Amino acid sequence: MLDVAVIGSGPAALSAALNCRQRNKSVTIFGRSLDSSLLFAAEKVDNYLGLPDMAGEELLNTFYSHAIKNGVEFRECRISQIMPMGEYFTINAENEFIQAKAIIVATGLSKSKGIVGEMEYLGKGVSYCATCDGMLYRGKKVVVVAENEEGEAEANFLADICSEVSYVPLYTPVMSLKENVRVVEGKPKSVQGDNIQVTGLELDNETLGCDGIFFAKNSMPPESLLYGLEMDGKNIAVNRKMETNLPRVYAAGDCTGAPYQIAKAVGEGLVAALSAVAAIDQMEREKQKA
Ligand SMILES: Cc1cc2nc3c(=O)[nH]c(=O)nc-3n(C[C@H](O)[C@H](O)[C@H](O)COP(=O)(O)OP(=O)(O)OC[C@H]3O[C@@H](n4cnc5c(N)ncnc54)[C@H](O)[C@@H]3O)c2cc1C
Repeated sequence: MLDVAVIGSGPAALSAALNCRQRNKSVTIFGRSLDSSLLFAAEKVDNYLGLPDMAGEELLNTFYSHAIKNGVEFRECRISQIMPMGEYFTINAENEFIQAKAIIVATGLSKSKGIVGEMEYLGKGVSYCATCDGMLYRGKKVVVVAENEEGEAEANFLADICSEVSYVPLYTPVMSLKENVRVVEGKPKSVQGDNIQVTGLELDNETLGCDGIFFAKNSMPPESLLYGLEMDGKNIAVNRKMETNLPRVYAAGDCTGAPYQIAKAVGEGLVAALSAVAAIDQMEREKQKA
């Protein structure tokens, strides 16, 4: 089991992971490729103290090399779900399940707002993980809405369990779907339901009746990554220790709000790491006493 799992791949995640390692904790970063960090797009950064005039890509690579040299592991993947299990968390890393004692969320600005009704029906028919929740829909009708080709694996998995699988791709080209998956063109507008359970997905041109909707997204709203995570508008609510409302879950960087700057991301990553390390040590001490 890992001490700390850091989710993200920008300066906040790299800083958090480096500082966990420097305090002798086992830590892995679970993040999409480095070029998905906002910093990668910065032509020139001139306000990061001590390292003037650098391209964002170069600065990010410098941060990355520093973290890796210190023993940080980087796993390139997209995290779709984090489940609290009492004393530890289980992280779904593209269908590999990893356990960690503490979590640092450093996922950057959430680009995905979700459609009307998506959050309301989370856990009542809306899911972000077919392998986690697919069995709940055995013999039922489901829709997969996919922003990327990862949705194809989800749909193919569901095709063996569900009575009907419709696939709404928001990208091209669609590569490999099983024969019994029906491709539907359209733009998702809202999740429909009866207040208890999902009943359908409204597209701009038709409504698909269904019992469940699976979303495969490039970027997930943090509250859908970790159920019960308190938000402050579109930012993760944190205190000065970068603690969220959930025990041993911390957040750092753009995902906690403005100013959207590297120095803030790096500083918050450090604070989140110190808080995570202190909480793990405290938990271990309590275990030894018991
Ligand atoms: C064009 C441009 C120029 C900029 N110039 C400057 C500047 O000059 N000075 C300055 O201080 N700031 C600048 N910024 C802002 C700076 O880049 C950001 O504030 C900084 O990158 C925030 O770091 P972060 O780690 O919080 O988020 P990000 O760098 O955005 O990293 C978040 C990472 O998490 C990954 N991720 C998200 N969800 C998941 C998931 N579910 N699973 C796995 N990985 C996930 C994302 O793919 C992304 O790689 C600029 C930004 C842009 C766009």
